[in-house]
Amino acid sequence: MKFGGTSLADMERIRHSARHIKREVDAGHQVAVVVSAMAGTTNQLVKWCEEASPMHDAREYDAVVSTGEQVSAGLLAIILQGMDISARSFSGWQVPIKTSDVHGAARIEDIDASDLNIRLNENQVCVVTGFQGISPNNRVTTLGRGGSDTSAVALAAAVKADRCDIYTDVDGVYTADPRIAPKAQRLERISFEEMLEMASLGAKVLQTRSVELAMAHGVRLAVRSSFADPDGPQSDSKNTNFGVPGTLVCDEDEIVEKQIVSGVTLVKAEAKITIRSVKDKPGVAAAVFGALAKEQIVVDMIVQNISDDGRQTDITFTVPDSEYDKAMAAVSNNEGRFEYESIKGAKGSAKISVIGVGMRSHAGVASSMFNALAEKGINIQLITTSEIKTSVLIEEEYAELAVRALHTYYGLDKKEG
Ligand code: ASP
Ligand code: MG
Repeated sequence: MKFGGTSLADMERIRHSARHIKREVDAGHQVAVVVSAMAGTTNQLVKWCEEASPMHDAREYDAVVSTGEQVSAGLLAIILQGMDISARSFSGWQVPIKTSDVHGAARIEDIDASDLNIRLNENQVCVVTGFQGISPNNRVTTLGRGGSDTSAVALAAAVKADRCDIYTDVDGVYTADPRIAPKAQRLERISFEEMLEMASLGAKVLQTRSVELAMAHGVRLAVRSSFADPDGPQSDSKNTNFGVPGTLVCDEDEIVEKQIVSGVTLVKAEAKITIRSVKDKPGVAAAVFGALAKEQIVVDMIVQNISDDGRQTDITFTVPDSEYDKAMAAVSNNEGRFEYESIKGAKGSAKISVIGVGMRSHAGVASSMFNALAEKGINIQLITTSEIKTSVLIEEEYAELAVRALHTYYGLDKKEG
């Protein structure tokens, strides 16, 4: 069971989350818990590091920002003990959760679960700090913001858990952001691959890396609400195999009724840059994107046209608005590595994607998406596709309208009543 920051925001919330744990313990399960820091804590710790010095040592940054999880783990263990549940906290190094030494963005390399397993077998609840681990040099590391989801999945894999329940402030994964599409519905199940696309395309329920890890290790993930009544109904009539309220993220084979489209996502603040008349010859794209990679700029959509005369072509790509100036500078001052006629760009586009494993076997998903947008008079600037996703770039101002239109078009709207 993993609890996020809002689920541990204050004593009352921690007590409420503890009741979810008690329910599972009372049902006879062995429970390992992974906690995030109390809401807002990590932001405060990051701010302090920046105030101490903008050029702070990354190892000390980790020493500071990892502490939020220690506080919440200890408090949760105290509260569980007060409910007559045997419990203790573990810091990352105490497990140990061994990571690489890339401070601030470490990767979990190995978890030695032998001590945890002994305690779990004694029916002790092990409350483990998310987000942190220990490097080969014995220094505390952190996994990057939002990393406690990844800790939870890695730990679930290490103790061979039946399931990894991620408790958060929403009751599952939705077909679209309900704040944008009020008729969005909770999905009973979603495949790892779809979730991976959703997570990287703006649905903020799970950290992308945690979904990759769950897919690689076959960890069944459930997204559940900690705000729900811990003693409320724990069965979901529609959801017989899974048996609990929430969304199950699982293997595609476990999903019987496959939708063609499972969700619609939105990413705002995308900038579009076009380089006109670059040479149409081998190595040009490599030079353009090499210049961006050198500046650590992550490029999203890329389009290159065929050339009319076989000599010149245009390349268009997108980056987050925040990277726009840096990207413009990187391609214009490229030290003669490639020639071009002009560069133009603009911020303020939005990327809308429709996602669904059913697309693999159904023709016409892309064309129907374009139709739905055309009906609303929305112009498409760029298109990219993958096996299970079609994305379009449009003007930001129409983003919400487009999400709602596509949501309705693909029959995802909640039925009235
Ligand atoms: N507390 C960390 C953060 O805020 C890790 C997490 O919440 O997943 O980024
Ligand atoms: Mg979090």
